[in-house]
Amino acid sequence: MRVPGLGGLFRWRYARPLLQAPLLVVSIVMILHGLFGPTLAPKNLATTLSWLHFRGVLVLVLLCAGNFFCLACPFMLVRQWARRVFRPRFNWPRALRNKWFSVGLFVLILFTYELFDLWSSPWWTAWLIVAYFLSVLVVDGFFKHASFCKFVCPIGQFNFVASTLSPFEVKVRDQDVCTRCHTKDCIRGRREPVSDLVMIRGCELALFQPRKVGNMDCTFCLDCVHACPHDNIGILSRLPARELMVDPIRSGIGYFSRRKDLAALAIIFAFGALLNAFGMVSPVYAVETWLGRMLHVSHEAPVLGLIFTFFLIVEPILLLGLAAWLTRIWTRSSRALLPLAVRYAYGLVPLGFGMWLAHYCFHFLTGLYTVIPVTQNAIASLGRPFLGEPRWALTGLPANVVQVIEIGFLVLGFAGSLAVTYGLAEDDSPDRPLRAFLPWAAVCLVLWFASMWLMLQPMEMRATLMSG
Ligand code: SF4
Ligand code: SF4
Repeated sequence: MRVPGLGGLFRWRYARPLLQAPLLVVSIVMILHGLFGPTLAPKNLATTLSWLHFRGVLVLVLLCAGNFFCLACPFMLVRQWARRVFRPRFNWPRALRNKWFSVGLFVLILFTYELFDLWSSPWWTAWLIVAYFLSVLVVDGFFKHASFCKFVCPIGQFNFVASTLSPFEVKVRDQDVCTRCHTKDCIRGRREPVSDLVMIRGCELALFQPRKVGNMDCTFCLDCVHACPHDNIGILSRLPARELMVDPIRSGIGYFSRRKDLAALAIIFAFGALLNAFGMVSPVYAVETWLGRMLHVSHEAPVLGLIFTFFLIVEPILLLGLAAWLTRIWTRSSRALLPLAVRYAYGLVPLGFGMWLAHYCFHFLTGLYTVIPVTQNAIASLGRPFLGEPRWALTGLPANVVQVIEIGFLVLGFAGSLAVTYGLAEDDSPDRPLRAFLPWAAVCLVLWFASMWLMLQPMEMRATLMSG
């Protein structure tokens, strides 16, 4: 916030709409091109921008900075406009104030992505974006605060988990200033003194700055920054992943170690990364064919359902259950297996993020320049080719260069998971940290070998003209 230019922009109240507006325009162009443009995915802006560029940029920004996609989220701009007309009247149901629903949606998106080959269908991709806009309008049209972001949005949950590894966090500069502060505008909102009307809203995600810990649930919307009358909130640097190793009570979240839903999100984040990559390497077809023959079914849905059940439920239960059991025996602990598994599940987040980075950057970097001919083609199809004829020969970086980068991400993720797991073991079992650490390190090793094996398989060049 003190960087010349950038700080001024982020302090400005309308910084968010300014960043959201271009993404909204891009979203509309993607929807129109997806519905009315070329049906071949590598020639369509909906598919190339969604499945190559957006995902790659998203994970790189999360790694290098923080949850800046949520800051510039175009869905929230439309929601803000709609809320001028429709004021939400209800509170989000108490029973759904957790991550279970969004975990289910996250899995559903991964499943439909594989089942309907979304990367190869501009039409379905366009409808997915439309469905997203409609869901935001319905949920936040009925329910107050940021219900969609906190309890529904699968992209948001992905960003929240991944941003625990980001180097920046929105947090208070000086706790003493907060102690002396009487208004607590960062959560209540800045109010008109006489009418008590909210002029600048406080945190819609229920994160009270003085007690906020880490990036979980923070959309980087900067409302708190604008509301604080003492200029006491900034975007500050911190040690990535540190927040996963500690377990203080967190505003708006509680204790990580008591949140089974959050642990499930972390597990789906990690195992889903491997499963998503597994879906684009050739051995998956052999497995699907074999399962189809065993089950005597020809439709892909039940086969895919079985694969998802194995990788997202059976495998985590077996691996984490075994590790928790060994931890309990080796540390002579009397704790039940489930709390132990919940506590250590957060250690898998760096591994999972390494895999998402490797996978998405493979598509992004090997198809880096494809946006140029696709845009040229889209403009030429309007009858005015002022960007010239499409240069279809432009693709991206060579696959062998990208592979080195992928392996780098996997090594980084593995090292991160080992560090977090050891930190958890030290915190959890100060007398015998090594004994508590070893079973989880073994789980990390198994997953890392699986990640490396996956990344060394020939991959489908999805949404590029090199795809088969
Ligand atoms: S962040 Fe600002 S508004 Fe919130 S308690 Fe601290 S000083 Fe007060
Ligand atoms: S703490 Fe709340 S208000 Fe502040 S940036 Fe995060 S989500 Fe926005």
